[in-house]
Parts: sequence; C-alpha cells; structure tokens
Amino acid sequence: MAARIFTLLSHGLWLRCPRCGIGRLYGKPFKMNEHCAHCRLKFEREQGYFIGAIYINYAATVAIAVPGFFVLDLFTTITVDQQLAFWIPFAVLFPLLFFHHSRSLWLVFDHFFNPEKQLFGLPPKKNG
Ligand SMILES: [Zn+2]
Repeated sequence: MAARIFTLLSHGLWLRCPRCGIGRLYGKPFKMNEHCAHCRLKFEREQGYFIGAIYINYAATVAIAVPGFFVLDLFTTITVDQQLAFWIPFAVLFPLLFFHHSRSLWLVFDHFFNPEKQLFGLPPKKNG
C-alpha cells in the first residue's frame, strides 16, 4: 500500500501518467495531452473532471502561506505589512506555477481511489 502511494506520488510529481508512469501529461507547456502516449489512458475522463485539481491547488497554497506567515511572524522581525507584501503575490503566483502539478496530483488521487474507471481509456497500443 505505501509503495503504491509512493509510486503514484512519484508519477504525479514528475507529471507522468498515473497508470503506467511513462507517458507525459504535457507535451506543450499549456496543453495537457488527451491520452497517455504509452498506455492510452484518457486523462480528462469527463467535462469538468479537473475541478478537483483546483481544490488541490488551493490546499497547497494555503498549506504553505498560512504556516509560512506564522513562522515568519514568530521567528523574524518582519512586520505584518512586509509579510503581506510577500504573501499576497505568493498567493497569486504560486497557484499559477503549481497548476500542472495540481492536475497531476488530482489524477493520482483519482487513480488511487478509482483505478477501475481507468478501463474507459482507449485500448493500449498494439506492438508492431
Ligand atoms: Zn500511461
């Protein structure tokens, strides 16, 4: 179980297909591939599928910004105004930079809890 979670998270962090770990999720910077080039897994199962990725993106932003604010408040002499000057742009820019990984981690999350739905992807490529 732990090994499977680690493997899936590894695939997610490297932006690879959650099923095979070989196919790339992105061929171009802002265009997600429709299917895995290796195992033909369909990435966007249905319209609106990646709404869950927004929650992951939001959770990651909050999980960094809120503790970060309090750590800096407790252990540095930075004022609240200076903190806000840092954390507000962070809260805008980080979700943009984390966009690919939030989608990838959403795929991993969904693949972990609903692997049987992966059968609805296109059939695997035939060799030869
Ligand atoms: Zn694949």
